[in-house]
Amino acid sequence: MFSLTDQSIDPALLRERLKDVRAGALATFEGRVRNHNDGQAVTALEYEAYNALAVKESARILQEAREQFDIYEVHCVHRTGTLLLGDVAVWVGVIAAHRDAAFSACRYVIDEIKARLPIWKKEQYAHMESSWVNCAHQREAQYSREELYSRQMMLPQMGISGQERLKAGRVLLVGAGGLGSSALLYLAGAGVGTIGICDGDRVDVSNLHRQILYGVNDIGAKKAALASEKIKAQYPFITTVCHPLAIFAGNAEELVKQYDVIVDCSDNFETKFLLSDVCRKLRKTLIQASVYQFEGQLSASFADGSGQCLRCLWKETPEAGCVGTCTDRGVVGATVGAFGSLQASEVIKALCGINSELGENIVLFDLLGLSLRKIKVKRDQNCSACDEDRQTMDFSPMQETLHDWKLDILEMSSSDLAGYELVDIRESNEDPGQILRSLLRTDVVQMPLSTVDVESTQLSVQKQYLFICQRGVRSDNLVVALRSRGFDNVYSLAGGVEAVRRKYIA
Ligand SMILES: [Zn+2]
Repeated sequence: MFSLTDQSIDPALLRERLKDVRAGALATFEGRVRNHNDGQAVTALEYEAYNALAVKESARILQEAREQFDIYEVHCVHRTGTLLLGDVAVWVGVIAAHRDAAFSACRYVIDEIKARLPIWKKEQYAHMESSWVNCAHQREAQYSREELYSRQMMLPQMGISGQERLKAGRVLLVGAGGLGSSALLYLAGAGVGTIGICDGDRVDVSNLHRQILYGVNDIGAKKAALASEKIKAQYPFITTVCHPLAIFAGNAEELVKQYDVIVDCSDNFETKFLLSDVCRKLRKTLIQASVYQFEGQLSASFADGSGQCLRCLWKETPEAGCVGTCTDRGVVGATVGAFGSLQASEVIKALCGINSELGENIVLFDLLGLSLRKIKVKRDQNCSACDEDRQTMDFSPMQETLHDWKLDILEMSSSDLAGYELVDIRESNEDPGQILRSLLRTDVVQMPLSTVDVESTQLSVQKQYLFICQRGVRSDNLVVALRSRGFDNVYSLAGGVEAVRRKYIA
C-alpha cells in the first residue's frame, strides 16, 4: 500500500499495521529532513507531488517488490507540504519470513520511489530557498554522463554516437552466475541503458568463487533480484529489469522479444539450444559462451542473419550430462570471468555497430596453455533453425517433457477445469476473481501472491491446484517454487487471465 500525506508520519503506527505472526522480519526505512545539503544549512523542506501519477507509479513499484522478493506485505508513505528538520519525509516498511527478503525489498522500494516518482522538493536555507528539483535526478546530477564514460567515448569506434547507442540498447542476460556476473558488471559500467537479468536460482556457497557479484552474506538470496539491486546501486543512468525465473520453451519468446541483444550466460545445452533457436526465429543478436575447466568457446549469431546458430554446428541438442559442467567437473573462476568479459565486449561491439569476427568464426580460448584459436565456420545452408521460413519452428519437445505443469486454456474443456481448484493469485488492487468467475462459470479461490508463503503453505495434497495470474508469469514462478518444495499437484495457467479472455471474448 502506498499513500501520500500532508500530515506528519507516525512510524510507530505504521509498524503496528504490519503486525503479522508469520513474519520473522520487519525492515523499515525512514528518510528524514537533515539540516544541511551541498554545504548549505537547511532549515526546512517542501515536497510537492503529482499525486495521480505518483500513486499509480508507486503501486507498480510495490507490486514489483512483491513479485521479486519473498515478502508478505510492503507499505510506503510519502509526505508532501512543508517539513521541518527531523521530520520523516518517506517511510517504507516490509514484512517477510526472512530478513534477506525484507532488507532487499525495502532497499528496492526506496530506491525506485526516489528514482521514479514525480515528486519535487525545495530546500529552504537560512537566507534563501533552492529552486524545485525532481528527486529522481539528484543522484545522477552529481556528475554527468560525459564524465562517467569519458575514457570510453574517446575511442574512435565509440564517440558520442556509440555511447548513445549503448544507452538505447536493451540487453538480456540469461543466467546471473559466473559468466553473468562478469558480463553484467562490464555492460552496466559501459552504460548499456536497459539490462534484463533472467535467473531462477538462488546463491549457493559453491557459486561464490566464480560468481563475483555475490558474497557470503548473499547465500540463499535470489540471484536475479540481488544482481539487479546491486548493479543499480553501483551504476547510475541504467535501468535493470529483474526476471526471477528459469527460461524455458514456454516463456523464451516472450522474454527475448523485449530485447535487442541476448547474452547466453547459461550453463546447460538445453538453454543454449533454446536461445539459439528463439534468437534465430526472432532475428535477435545472440552472444554465447561455454566454459569448461580452464577453457571455453565463444560464438554468435546476429540480427541481420549473419553468424551461425548452434544447430548449424550440431544438429541435435546434446544430452544433458554428456559433457561435464562446472558443477561436476570444476572450473576456475577467472576463466569464467574472462569469457563473461569477452561476451560483454561483443555486446558493446554489436550495439555500437562495430564488426565482429564472430560472424564467421567461433573462438576457442585455453587459459591453461594460453592459446587462442579462431575457427572458421560456415552457416549450414540446410539448417532448419536458420531457414527463412522460420515460423514453422517448434520449440518442443522440451515444453511437453519438462513443463507438463503449464496448462493451455485452449485445450481445456469445462470438465477438465473441474478437476482443479482454480486459484487467482492476483493482488486485491487488480480486481481478481470477477472476470474469471464469469468467463469460466466456476468458482475461483482468491489468494493474492503477496500472502503466499511457499515455505509454509497449507495446500492440500488431495487436490490439484491451477494457479492463475494476469499473464502467467507469476503463476509460473509460484509453481516452480512449489514444485521445488515437493508439491506435484500444482499447475500454472499459460498466459493467465489474458489467455482466458482471448478464448472467451476475442
Ligand atoms: Zn543454423
